[in-house]
Amino acid sequence: MILNSLKILTGQIEVLTGLHIGASHADIEIGGLDNPIIKDPWTRLPYIPGSSLKGKLRSLMEMKTGKFTEDGKPCDCAEPTCPICPVFGTSAKKRPANLGPTRIIVRDAYLSKKWKKLFEEGELIPEVKYENAINRINGVANPRPLERVPAGVEFDFSISFKVFDTDRSEYFDTVLKAMAMLESDALGGAGSRGCGQIRFVNVLIDNEKQAEDFLNSYRESSCSADTASKPSPRS
Ligand SMILES: [Zn+2]
Repeated sequence: MILNSLKILTGQIEVLTGLHIGASHADIEIGGLDNPIIKDPWTRLPYIPGSSLKGKLRSLMEMKTGKFTEDGKPCDCAEPTCPICPVFGTSAKKRPANLGPTRIIVRDAYLSKKWKKLFEEGELIPEVKYENAINRINGVANPRPLERVPAGVEFDFSISFKVFDTDRSEYFDTVLKAMAMLESDALGGAGSRGCGQIRFVNVLIDNEKQAEDFLNSYRESSCSADTASKPSPRS
């Protein structure tokens, strides 16, 4: 197999509702908040780990195509016809030579210039949202703080994608479909409680500016199978 091209997708991820990508327990500071967001260890500025973005894109496509194991583990079939494995990768020991390397590389997304400056100058800080867990018996509220990147903030994202001569054209479409699905889903934690709505803006594919609504066409095709697969009501 021959590497025909490297597609480069860049642009911004705009936070529409507070974004909470949690830090690991090892990163939690003594005396700090219970639910902090992940921050760059050097700059202490919030960022979106490439692994979080890639994992979310993958899991959405797995749900969409039913490609996950019975116990909910990621697909690891390593078949070239799989919509997931060639694009997002398999475990090293399962990968056959004819599958080639994982096509997608998702970089860490750092704050866009304007927002980085505001955070550095202290003009903007992560917000703390207090959520109440209500005791159903005595009605007592137990507030818990959740740190979030405020709505409006933008991060620069970059995705690189390998295209081999033997690849199916659906491979790259998988990425765009997953991005369209993510806009209707949520990134990071507490998505079911309103966090993590995002959208991709100013998207360039190989330096070519895309229309602001270009993901819509991928959204429609990615959702059409839902209605098609529904059993028709019996008369
Ligand atoms: Zn697979």
